[in-house]
Amino acid sequence: MLSYRHAFHAGNHADVLKHSVLMQVLEYVIQKDKPFLYVDTHAGAGCYDLRSGWARKNCEHAEGVERVWPLLDAADCPTGLQTYLLALKKLNPHGELHEYPGSPWLAQSILRTQDKARLFELHPNEYKNLQTLFAHDKQIRVEQTDGFQALNALLPPAERRAVVLIDPPYEVKTDYQTLIESLKIAYKKFSTGVYLIWYPVIDRKIVNRLERNIMDAGIRNVLLAELCIRADAEDAGMTGSGMIIINPPWQLNAVLKDLMPHLVRMLSDSGRFRLQQLVAE
Ligand code: SAM
Repeated sequence: MLSYRHAFHAGNHADVLKHSVLMQVLEYVIQKDKPFLYVDTHAGAGCYDLRSGWARKNCEHAEGVERVWPLLDAADCPTGLQTYLLALKKLNPHGELHEYPGSPWLAQSILRTQDKARLFELHPNEYKNLQTLFAHDKQIRVEQTDGFQALNALLPPAERRAVVLIDPPYEVKTDYQTLIESLKIAYKKFSTGVYLIWYPVIDRKIVNRLERNIMDAGIRNVLLAELCIRADAEDAGMTGSGMIIINPPWQLNAVLKDLMPHLVRMLSDSGRFRLQQLVAE
C-alpha cells in the first residue's frame, strides 16, 4: 500500500521540526573537511509546490513553515533555524514562499563536492519526480527501492562518515518494527553514523513503545526532540512529531535547547516540547 503523498503535508509543523534539525546536523557535519554520505531512506518527491491543489487542500504549511519564514530577516532568529531558513530562501529567492524543499533538496543544498547522497523512494510518481530533480547531479543517486533494505546494504559507507534520515510514512503499522530491526542491523554495521528518525505523535502508546524499543536496542547516545502543537488526544490525528537522533553532533543539544521553546511558541498556542537524552553516550 503506497497511498501516502507528502505533497499534502509539505511544510507542516512536522516538516519544520524535521528539516530544521536535519539542516542543523548537516551544518555541523560539514565543519570537518572529510567527505560524508547522506542517505535518505524515504526520500519523497524532493520538492513541493505550495500553490498546488494538493498543498492547498488542507494548507498545512500555513500552520508550519509560514509561521517561521518571517524570521529569516529577524535579528533574533534562533541559531537552530538559520541554515534551514537560508535554504528556503535559496529556493524562494523572490521573497514569497512558493516552493517547499523536501529533505533531499535540503541535503543537496549543503553537500560539498567531496560528499555524496543516496536517495530511496518506492512510490513510482514520487520516484520519477525525484529522479528528474537530480538527473544532472552526479553526486546524487536515486533508486526506486525499499529504503530499509537498501540502508543495510550501504553500510558501512566508504566515507566512514554518514548522516542517515529515516522518515517512513508509517502507513503500514509494521514500519515501526521494520524500523527497529533495520536500525539494529545498521548500528551493528556502522555504530558511528548519525541517524535521524522521524516519528508522528498520533497515539502516545505507540510513541512510548518506539522509545522503549530504541532504548532496548543496544544503541548508545540517543537524543529525542519532540514538538506537539496540541495535547495528546485519541482520534485527533497527528498532534505532534519527534526526531530521534543517534550520535548527535555535540553542539546539537544546546542549539535545540534554545530552539525548541521558540518553535513551540511560533507553531502553537498550547503546544509543548520534550528534549531528552534517551540513551546516554
Ligand atoms: N523525507 C521526505 C522529506 O522530508 O521531504 C518525506 C518522505 S515521506 C514522509 C515518506 C515517503 O516514503 C513517501 O514518499 C513514500 O512513498 C515513501 N516510502 C514508503 N515506504 C517506503 C519504503 N519502504 N522505502 C522507500 N520509500 C518508501
